[in-house]
Amino acid sequence: MPTWTNWSGSVVARPARILAPASEDEVAAIVREAAPGTTVRVAGSGHSFVPVVPGDDTLLSLERLSGLLHADAAAGRATLLAGTRLCDATHLLWERGLALPNQGDVDTQALAGAIATGTHGTGPAFGSISTRLVAARVVTADGSLLDIENSALLPALRVSLGLLGIFTRVTLACIPRYALHERVWRRPIEACLDALDHDIAANEHYEFFWFPRSDVAESKALNTVDETPPGEEPPALDGPGERLGWAHRIYPSVRDLRFNEMEYAVPAEAGPECFRAIRQRINERHPKVAWPVEYRTLAADDAWLSPAFGRPTVTLSVHQAAERPYREFFTDLEPIFREFGGRPHWGKFHTCTRADLAAMYPRFDDFCALRQRLDPAGRFLSPYLSSLFT
Ligand SMILES: Cc1cc2nc3c(=O)[nH]c(=O)nc-3n(C[C@H](O)[C@H](O)[C@H](O)COP(=O)(O)OP(=O)(O)OC[C@H]3O[C@@H](n4cnc5c(N)ncnc54)[C@H](O)[C@@H]3O)c2cc1C
Repeated sequence: MPTWTNWSGSVVARPARILAPASEDEVAAIVREAAPGTTVRVAGSGHSFVPVVPGDDTLLSLERLSGLLHADAAAGRATLLAGTRLCDATHLLWERGLALPNQGDVDTQALAGAIATGTHGTGPAFGSISTRLVAARVVTADGSLLDIENSALLPALRVSLGLLGIFTRVTLACIPRYALHERVWRRPIEACLDALDHDIAANEHYEFFWFPRSDVAESKALNTVDETPPGEEPPALDGPGERLGWAHRIYPSVRDLRFNEMEYAVPAEAGPECFRAIRQRINERHPKVAWPVEYRTLAADDAWLSPAFGRPTVTLSVHQAAERPYREFFTDLEPIFREFGGRPHWGKFHTCTRADLAAMYPRFDDFCALRQRLDPAGRFLSPYLSSLFT
């Protein structure tokens, strides 16, 4: 049996087969012809830290379903194949004069994987990448191809972990391409917290990383500028901690060191207090942890399973080196996030049960009922996902 491993190495699976279909019809045929009682799961680029990808039977990679199908700069819409990596998608959009209004920390994920987990960047006016989804083609549990647009299904489908269908193409609302100015600077964490409200309000995209051992915060602010960068390539630092370049080249960082991560989304107003409680716990009980805590903001949205559903949000994430134990550290912090009304990121570590999730997500039971209706035989389930969604 083939082996499938995620980016951090925290998930190793042995599905019966891994297939890489080359067309939407082939994806549909695989689902249609899969043996009764077996499951079909789909992988993006494996950047989730928990087993939201594999099942026991068929695992699909959509890496061959990559590319831009259609772009309409005037309408601000583009349709891409679902396996397109974000780095390729944003380059293709850029060539057509388009861009996403926000991006996350890296751009190595598959578009559909990023959408299906609610992957986000930072900025109180910006939703996750899934909020840009305006239409999609999906393979349904009976192996049909279904086009979805202007449908009541969209808010359920946006963040759906491959449980409602397999995206084969996605249409995104885009904006004209733009340049960003980046500024990165360090200061003691208390100074960073004192300036937090101001810095969030004064910048389009603001975040900070707190490094526990030094008690220093590294802040990053990104703002749109009118200047046109000379080329598409990422620019070198221009002065201390400053760069200017095309947005899709400025957003992503390079993450060479592998890690595991837990992230919770708390109501925006609880962010600072929750961060202080996390900081205190790390200082008191985990003095050896060197990896930073990341603090970001996120606009409210209407996707049923979005951690930002219905409320302006702050996301807080904690990390640990991939080669080190992380479970004890993360589970010691998790009750603090929960106490502040946190909802877990679907692609990151958490220990929530179905009952916990139902209490956190107002539309959780609706999602489960819809899943049951669209996929009564559980074609798109896995043991891990069954434990949470059935
Ligand atoms: C280095 C690193 C940096 C990260 N930075 C951020 C960040 O800045 N912001 C953030 O929010 N998250 C971040 N994450 C988390 C990551 O973005 C999410 O876990 C995301 O889902 C990963 O995308 P992927 O393509 O690897 O998807 P996978 O992990 O492979 O899959 C995720 C889910 O999507 C489903 N899926 C994949 N393809 C399809 C499809 N075609 N149709 C339907 N469902 C599908 C899968 O079945 C699975 O349930 C980061 C992770 C890493 C490792």
